[in-house]
Amino acid sequence: MMRQYELVELVQAYNPNADEALLNKAYVYAMQKHGSQRRASGDPYFAHPLEVAAILTKLHLDDATIAVALLHDTIEDTDATRAEIDQVFGQEIGAIVDGLTKIDRLNLGSREEAQAENLRKLLLAIAEDVRVLLVKLADRLHNMRTLEFVPEHKKRRIAQETMEIYAPLAGRMGMQDMRSELEDLSFQTLHPEQYQVIRNHLDAYAKDNRAVVDEIRMELAQRFVDAGIIADVTSRLKAPFSVFKKMERKSISLEQLSDIIGFRVIVDSVDLCYKTLGVVHQTWSVVPGRFKDYISTPKQNDYRSIHTTIVGPERERVELQIRTSEMNSIAEMGIAAHALYKDEISGDMKRLEHESRAYAWLRNTIKHLTEGENPQEFLEHTKLELFQDQVFCFTPRGRLIALPRGATPIDFAFAVHTDIGNSCVSCRINGTAMPLTTKLRNGDEVQIDRDENHRPPPNWENIAVTGKARAAIRRSLRLAAQERAERLGKQIYDALLEREAFSVNRKEQDELLKRLKMRSIRSLYVALGEAQLSGEDLVHELDELKGYERTRKRKPLGLPVGASKDGWFSLAQGENFKFRIPGGQTVDADILGGAHLEFGTPVKVSAEGVLPGDRMVGILPENGILTIYPIGSEALLEYQDKDALWVDVLWDLDAERHQNFPVVMVVQSVNKPGILGQISSSIASCDANIVNLFFRTVRSDFSDMLFCIEVQDIAQFNDVTTTLKRIVGISNVRRATCEEGELIDNLTQQYKQLETKVN
Ligand code: MN
Repeated sequence: MMRQYELVELVQAYNPNADEALLNKAYVYAMQKHGSQRRASGDPYFAHPLEVAAILTKLHLDDATIAVALLHDTIEDTDATRAEIDQVFGQEIGAIVDGLTKIDRLNLGSREEAQAENLRKLLLAIAEDVRVLLVKLADRLHNMRTLEFVPEHKKRRIAQETMEIYAPLAGRMGMQDMRSELEDLSFQTLHPEQYQVIRNHLDAYAKDNRAVVDEIRMELAQRFVDAGIIADVTSRLKAPFSVFKKMERKSISLEQLSDIIGFRVIVDSVDLCYKTLGVVHQTWSVVPGRFKDYISTPKQNDYRSIHTTIVGPERERVELQIRTSEMNSIAEMGIAAHALYKDEISGDMKRLEHESRAYAWLRNTIKHLTEGENPQEFLEHTKLELFQDQVFCFTPRGRLIALPRGATPIDFAFAVHTDIGNSCVSCRINGTAMPLTTKLRNGDEVQIDRDENHRPPPNWENIAVTGKARAAIRRSLRLAAQERAERLGKQIYDALLEREAFSVNRKEQDELLKRLKMRSIRSLYVALGEAQLSGEDLVHELDELKGYERTRKRKPLGLPVGASKDGWFSLAQGENFKFRIPGGQTVDADILGGAHLEFGTPVKVSAEGVLPGDRMVGILPENGILTIYPIGSEALLEYQDKDALWVDVLWDLDAERHQNFPVVMVVQSVNKPGILGQISSSIASCDANIVNLFFRTVRSDFSDMLFCIEVQDIAQFNDVTTTLKRIVGISNVRRATCEEGELIDNLTQQYKQLETKVN
């Protein structure tokens, strides 16, 4: 056991002005209070607070924090009281010890307890003084290091709690070393076999590659010397848990693992960081996509460093981190490192808030919990989902979002705000672009990318797990389908009025709505758009309303006004198409059962989409809506024997205007993490937009997706398909059939019908 003077020496080594009397008093007080108590290991109990204090000296913390470490279990486990500690050590220390005692009484890993409420209490206890968290983490670290003596069932619970709450908190505070050790110790307890396999592999790898690693390090160091840069080059082995996470994330085996060893280059100034980077990039070839500059844009937890991967000496992939020593201590010690750079440590937490984004995050989160609009909501959730496992995630601004386990970024987005959910198009988890189907984990920071014109696609309802998200998605689908029907209905209505040369004033409109039992003109449009009301019925009603005797014969269908000499004409202003009745002839209206083809006839494009460069054909069936299909469309087979007019169609594009056109394609792929991200970025790399996406089949190993994308013409579309086919794991890319294009529409229709039934 460490002696009193040894502890004092440890503190004085970095803080010569440390209050020696305070440290001695705390040492003696705690030792006497714990007396003959023993730990599970059989050691005297006092060994524990002493070790906790020792851990904190490594973080160079102030003397008050070290004293608190010695005292941290006295109120909970001995006859000491808050009042007595206040009296002997002052209120500052008393308050921190009290905060720690409160945390000890929380049972964060327990399912029976309100986890969210306990997390809230934990954060509130930390809010009083951030040193509460630092001591708590050191306390937990020592308990984890000595976990082997604890009974099995308790062991797992403690490890679980550490993995889910304390390790992420340490990470969020930028304390990477603390986080990594807590994770590895928990991992070892929770998954002993996996831990052992990875540990053995890492050790063997390090042993086999010692010579290569040394050579690479020497070569790097030599290059820096040649360039006149003084740099400290070290290598380090990845931690078992971070290897495990990487294997899980990328679904790769141990053998496929690269970058097991990373190199760290520490220099004196920011300038030298970039100079060093220049030397590295000029000397070796860079692995694309791996360069990250966290110096110009630090991470949320204050982490700063340059990352790059090169094909280095010995043709090995070498991962490099370049940073200053100040950045390095912040990377290792996080929030605790800030204490290093000031003389007067205690008290002034305001300054820490300015200096440390991590600390500002903590304050902010706590503020939201205590006075923001959310605590009520937070508690509501807690009550509702009390007995469910939860994950705690954060917005980039540090707002805590509690979600049930299995929740996705879509749930997250809707939990933050319905508008954010509705306009959500993609997301970044901890800074990395990830599919919206990813299951969130504790401590994830989720950033939602939005597009105000976007609406949730139908398949999201199956992906989302929270009631709030599902309800909002359903509502939004219903609205979108209604808007579509309304637009189409209005087109039909206006075209009908024009065709029949009706003008309808306000009074007549009200009368018409009454006759049709419609509440508003909008419901009339929707009914027309959904074909619940036919155009013929509407005309009939109008005739009755106006007291018309329908005696005039419809004029025979001829060439619409404005047709060119060779028979081409347009049907609407600014339309992208020109039409011609085959051979340029006229057709008698009778064969169409009354359908007309004249200026104002509604035109739509078949659901699979047509592109400039496609050969096309237009079909005018009895419902009077001219539909344009690509010539290869399967839907055309259906019209071969039917009463419908076939029309020639040409593009009539304005060369000045760059226009994009929607087209649907089918992509089949093997399921692997990140494949959706790869697909989206490949589509984006061809300058095309994704408008909609639908997972038709999702099996564990295979996905069949429909993408609606926007492109300028068939050449750009072909560019997209060729690019996609190059992605490993994609088995097929092709243009969708009309039926497939209609799938999304049909799904929305089904939801609508369901809704109508419910009402
Ligand atoms: Mn303790």
